[in-house]
Amino acid sequence: MYAPPVQRLITELGKLPGIGQRTAQRLAFHILRSDTEDATALADAIREVKERIGLCQVCFNLADSERCRICTDERREPAIVCVVEEPSDVIPVERTHEFHGRYHVLGGALSPIDGIDPEDLKIAELLARVRPAGEGAPMREVVLATNPTTTGEATALHIAELLRGTVTVTRLASGLPVGADLEHADEVTLGKALAGRRAL
Ligand SMILES: [Zn+2]
Repeated sequence: MYAPPVQRLITELGKLPGIGQRTAQRLAFHILRSDTEDATALADAIREVKERIGLCQVCFNLADSERCRICTDERREPAIVCVVEEPSDVIPVERTHEFHGRYHVLGGALSPIDGIDPEDLKIAELLARVRPAGEGAPMREVVLATNPTTTGEATALHIAELLRGTVTVTRLASGLPVGADLEHADEVTLGKALAGRRAL
């Protein structure tokens, strides 16, 4: 129906989350109509994030060098770590301005049904941060900020069990809509949930 390059663009756009066939076509035609400069800027931006952005070696947040901006920020309290599922969950917590510690990004949540087991997440790395061998001060608090979903809760409980007796473990206070993602929580609600976190 379309020339192969146009069909290819539609196919690629259609792989994006929330983009159906029709939207993919609309975006493709928008790109075809736009200036060469704008279209190239989009293509370059995609290429650049894939080339330059990796994961922080300490916390597994997105980073453009070995360590992310938060891990290299001396003003951030290193003895308190907020555990989230995805790098995109760091942003909403940051937006609350309630948290001044560091992060640990698990890379997902436990979901045996989908074949996601503890070893698929950065849980061992979290334990190593909490109980550092040799140099490095021990952690004071681990804030479990996984999503208030079934898999997020299961992940929080699993980690709390592993950390029992070694460090204070807290969980976001209730008030977040159950089943929702951190990403979609408004900053006031999330800020309150952080401020009112309770020990597990
Ligand atoms: Zn980091």
